[in-house]
Amino acid sequence: MTAQIIDGKAFAARVRGKVAAHVARLVADHGLTPGLAVVLVGEDPASQVYVRNKGKQTREVGMLSVEHRLPEDASEADLLALVEELNADPKIHGILVQLPLPDHMNADLVINAIDPAKDVDGFHISNVGLLATGQKAMVPCTPLGCLMMLREQHGSLSGMEAVVVGRSNIVGKPMAQLLLGENCTVTVAHSRTRDLPEVVRRADIVVAAVGRPQMVPGDWIKPGATVIDVGINRIPREDGKSRLVGDVEFSSAVEVAGAITPVPGGVGPMTIACLLANTVTAACRANGLPEPE
Ligand code: NDP
Repeated sequence: MTAQIIDGKAFAARVRGKVAAHVARLVADHGLTPGLAVVLVGEDPASQVYVRNKGKQTREVGMLSVEHRLPEDASEADLLALVEELNADPKIHGILVQLPLPDHMNADLVINAIDPAKDVDGFHISNVGLLATGQKAMVPCTPLGCLMMLREQHGSLSGMEAVVVGRSNIVGKPMAQLLLGENCTVTVAHSRTRDLPEVVRRADIVVAAVGRPQMVPGDWIKPGATVIDVGINRIPREDGKSRLVGDVEFSSAVEVAGAITPVPGGVGPMTIACLLANTVTAACRANGLPEPE
């Protein structure tokens, strides 16, 4: 039996639809247009694509989209001054500084200069602490998208064994916190984990966020498990072009898992949808209005 394919593209479209409806109500009932500012430093081609997509999707749901581009050689002080300006701007409810930043900038310092209430990426130390202590936080978009898909799949996740492979601050760690919050029994695996295949085999839920193409084969997966593949890896194709693959070997995992996200079309589209949802949440909180569910 092959696994159910979790359609992240369709799910993300539904999330964006809900966001658009909420934005329309905020505009009509309160004259409030949520605003998202994205800051890009330098010319990194992948970052430029992300920023363009974010701007387009922000406008499509009826929100204000503001883009700030700084040259590669801009100083950290210039960037901090821009962040301060956006912190103080009442039209802006969400601020995202696109990572990675150039080497001469301290990313932690810049992220922690963002007003935590506007930190729609959820990377500010205050939001990290709020999430870790089970309080109302801005939750990082990629793990939030993964959690939404898992909830849709299972309803309650209580008591399930979850293995998160990867412990980065932007995916693995917040994912583990969210799953703990759902009462899963959580294992976080990483490059020093001993006998990774055995660890993964006990999981009802596997979240792979490693950045190594097709590292997790089907025979590591417990039959019937739900597999969320966060990885986005570009590998060469026979015709000289390239294609995207995840951290999971889809062709073998799909034969064993109960449900699995494809790459592309799984976790990826959910990330921007969650960014838009976080911006609406931030706008509601800033104005003392009820938050979207
Ligand atoms: P990082 O490189 O920051 O972290 C990778 C993690 O994987 C580290 O914790 C590392 O362990 C662990 N790891 C590396 N090699 C192994 C191994 N052989 N066995 C077990 N664990 C290992 O990556 P990110 O978390 O930023 O991203 C992970 C993947 O997700 C990437 O492919 C990225 O492109 C993708 N991604 C996708 C997004 C989306 O929107 N869908 C958003 C963000 C990321 P250690 O800590 O010990 O070094």
